Amino acid sequence: MCFFVYARHPISGFGLLLFQGGSTATMAAMMLHDKFGRLITDLRISITDRCNFRCVYCRSADPENYRDHDEILSWPELDRLARVFLSLGIRKIRITGGEPLVRDGVEDYLARLHSLGVEDLSMTTNGHLLADRCQGLIRSGLRRINISLDSLDPVKFEKITRTKSFAAVMRGIEAAQNSALVPAKINAVLVRGTNDDEIEAFAAFARERGVIMRFIEFMPLDADRHWTRTLMVPAAEVYQRIHARWPLEQIPHERSETARKYRFADGAPGEIGLIAPVTQPFCGHCSRIRLTADGKLRTCLFSKDDHDLRGLLREGAHDEDLVTYIGSVVMEKEEGHRINDPGFVQPSRTMVFIGG
Ligand code: SAM
Repeated sequence: MCFFVYARHPISGFGLLLFQGGSTATMAAMMLHDKFGRLITDLRISITDRCNFRCVYCRSADPENYRDHDEILSWPELDRLARVFLSLGIRKIRITGGEPLVRDGVEDYLARLHSLGVEDLSMTTNGHLLADRCQGLIRSGLRRINISLDSLDPVKFEKITRTKSFAAVMRGIEAAQNSALVPAKINAVLVRGTNDDEIEAFAAFARERGVIMRFIEFMPLDADRHWTRTLMVPAAEVYQRIHARWPLEQIPHERSETARKYRFADGAPGEIGLIAPVTQPFCGHCSRIRLTADGKLRTCLFSKDDHDLRGLLREGAHDEDLVTYIGSVVMEKEEGHRINDPGFVQPSRTMVFIGG
């Protein structure tokens, strides 16, 4: 039997939910929760706001102002925050950016997170630098990888990402597929009129390569503020088109998972994942919080405000102060993202400055 009891954090005395399972041994971990009763177990850590791509749905063609280096959390600051978050019941950590592989030291950071006992250590990358780094990342403790790939057509890929990196990304995917990271999750953000003609081609790619092909609805987080509902391709349409060609069967998923998952009914390898934050929001079961590269805690991708952990760290806060602060911020996590509300306002931070 599993149940929750209210308890106080050992360092801060802050009230937390204590998860207890089993009749003999008590598996006890301090858990973060919000006022809607959602348990927060997943943390996305953006380790840099820099990126070597300029994807049209994310960044602007114009130079953006990266934060100065001293505004970005140092590795020791990131280590300390990781320890505090783990003491609060965070079990899954995803490293993201910007592009995480452009920051020197990411392998060492992963190794330290691994040694701290993170159960599920993953990374989101554009794949450009992955081929040569894949084995080192695995040795450091990386267990799962998501690679962005928005077109299978090299010319279109260059237009979307504003790079010439198609071949390098394909090598990165191949390296991941030939490694312990198999099956890689491949993320495509569909933008109407740009790459929605490739839905079936992506599904064929999943079948041929045995990857998990995930389609993400375009969200209003782009730097150019070009997002409109008509540019977004609803997950239902993606499902219908693939299902018409290769019937799909749903795979059970954890309630907090972002993707609805499908296998091919004919037994072909690969999987399809549909991530529909706009048309089928999954906020009710959200278990995620985010730490930005400049040390702000965000309780929702679409939060209007972020919460300054870097300031606290640099002002000399004790761990118990951090625990108390994080607990109180998480308690006020938004009920939902409100993209579909009439008065919705796009957050000032774009995806590259949040960390997807
Ligand atoms: N550089 C890495 C990458 O390209 O995967 C990690 C950072 S990127 C910001 C993380 C994820 O956010 C990627 O899968 C990207 O496609 C997605 N993303 C960026 N802007 C988005 C938007 N406006 N709507 C939906 N997804 C977006």
